[in-house]
Amino acid sequence: MIGVDSLDRLRSDVCDCRRCPRLVDWRELVAVEKRASYRDQEYWGRPISGFGDGEARILVLGLAPAAHGANRTGRVFTGDRSGDWLFRAMHRAGLANQPESVSPDDGLALRDAWVTAAVKCAPPDNKPLPDERDECRPFLRRERALLPDVRVVVCLGAFAYEAACQEYGVRPRPKFGHLAEVATPDGGPVLVCSFHPSQQNTFTGRLTEPMLDAVFTRAVELADLALPRQRRRRSSTRATGRPGTT
Ligand code: SF4
Repeated sequence: MIGVDSLDRLRSDVCDCRRCPRLVDWRELVAVEKRASYRDQEYWGRPISGFGDGEARILVLGLAPAAHGANRTGRVFTGDRSGDWLFRAMHRAGLANQPESVSPDDGLALRDAWVTAAVKCAPPDNKPLPDERDECRPFLRRERALLPDVRVVVCLGAFAYEAACQEYGVRPRPKFGHLAEVATPDGGPVLVCSFHPSQQNTFTGRLTEPMLDAVFTRAVELADLALPRQRRRRSSTRATGRPGTT
């Protein structure tokens, strides 16, 4: 990366990336074959950049886009059941203006929060390979650098937690558990763990809405959002990362 970075530039670089051949093949195959119920829709079929408030204090980190969710709609956690759960909870926590997330033009706006995934392309069986996670890590690093106000990282699932520990230099890595909190070195953000709002977890009751609410209540507490929004450094590059631009 040469020159001054920005959320817009990052988004553009993410969307053009083809570094992982297996994932490129998969995301494009899914976009052509489609799920029967979406056969009339044009799939995005490309990597998914982060979305939200460029002054976010809370970063929500998922695993990877869903094949028929974000890989279809083009916005992270948009158009699938996991996203329904996530944005409903964020709405209840005051971090989203609406509980629905169905398409990039649905009016969803986040306040003080940024949502992204550790791996930006939909993987087969929702399982990226370690090499693919490592290949994608520079994008997460750039996201981190472009979101300097982040105080809390909500890790949705063990994969996201491991990626966050790697990124923020947490060694040894404490055990993952719902509502576990982990400090990061050098005054970095606190990691708050949550079971992933996957259908596997929500259908079985492993994750309930009150459990997810507890995660965001704690994240908001830790980020100190109850205090008036402080005057924050705002630059034109960061402002471009605000909602509605994905
Ligand atoms: S997973 Fe990341 S590094 Fe790999 S092709 Fe997608 S955007 Fe590029």
